Amino acid sequence: MRGISNCKFIGGSQDGKILEIISLHCRKRLCIESSTWFSKAKDAVKIVKGHSKYKDPDWFQSLCYVYEKQPKKKNDKFIVYQLIETRNIHRCEKYLENKQRMCLHEAQPGKKYCSTHKVS
Ligand SMILES: [Zn+2]
Repeated sequence: MRGISNCKFIGGSQDGKILEIISLHCRKRLCIESSTWFSKAKDAVKIVKGHSKYKDPDWFQSLCYVYEKQPKKKNDKFIVYQLIETRNIHRCEKYLENKQRMCLHEAQPGKKYCSTHKVS
């Protein structure tokens, strides 16, 4: 199909899967977020599976699988993406007084806060 590429994933949550991806988005690296995340419960950590962690007021960490595009071989039907890294995603630690909860967004990699709440 025009404008759509078949991408085959090796390793991680998508191992062996072939996904149709808009060719324009087939960058050097693709990040696929895990469908589970970690949520705070009273004395424990809950592992939650769902569509969007942003609807969970208690989420604090999730996982992302980073894949890297492999050099294309002759006669390859797919673009092959290999897992290179499993990345932890942390929630922004900013407490929003007016909403009485923490910011729902992801912190920037290696930082405590999201791009909106970064300390400049
Ligand atoms: Zn934030």
